[in-house]
Amino acid sequence: MAIHIIDFDEVIFPFNENAFLFISQRLGRENTLKDYPQHKIFDYHVFTNFFNISDEQVFSLFTEFMYSPKHLNAPPIPGSINGLRELISRGEQPIIGTARFDLEKQSIIDYFKKHAPDLSDKIQVYTLGQGASKVEFATKMGAKSLVDDHPKNLNLNGYAYVIDGYIFTTKWNKHLKDYELPKGVKRINNWKDLLNKI
Ligand SMILES: [Mg+2]
Repeated sequence: MAIHIIDFDEVIFPFNENAFLFISQRLGRENTLKDYPQHKIFDYHVFTNFFNISDEQVFSLFTEFMYSPKHLNAPPIPGSINGLRELISRGEQPIIGTARFDLEKQSIIDYFKKHAPDLSDKIQVYTLGQGASKVEFATKMGAKSLVDDHPKNLNLNGYAYVIDGYIFTTKWNKHLKDYELPKGVKRINNWKDLLNKI
């Protein structure tokens, strides 16, 4: 059974734009999505810089967001839920590997319960935390492929011969040319594309 390690934020859940609006509102700012610095490769520093708040404040607001109705009710990335169903119906095993922390795990479980109740007991969720190597995790799990939107998570290094790396196109990585991606990583533009290539 082929195992696929799939990122949650930006591949299944539209985190950045929703978190941006949540934080903006929470801080009493009046930003709209057109202010969102979406041309930048995302990490939390985009938010610390934009809102001029500390790392601690960003992480605390992220956690608050993840357990808010704004998170629970945000529609999934188009095609993602049916894409997971399709992989399972092929006899393959999608596993969520996310850089969210353990204390944020329940927010993902709750999200699946709401948006894909039929999948909630079929999908395992691993919260690896910031800084963990997803490639090493995927290799340890015996995965065939790793899907992520952030190039830093796809640095296959010595693992390119065992694992297929795919970068999922988002607004903040689409400007990266193939030669700017980690070696061996292929681009996928949406879930339909992913189901054809994976
Ligand atoms: Mg992501």
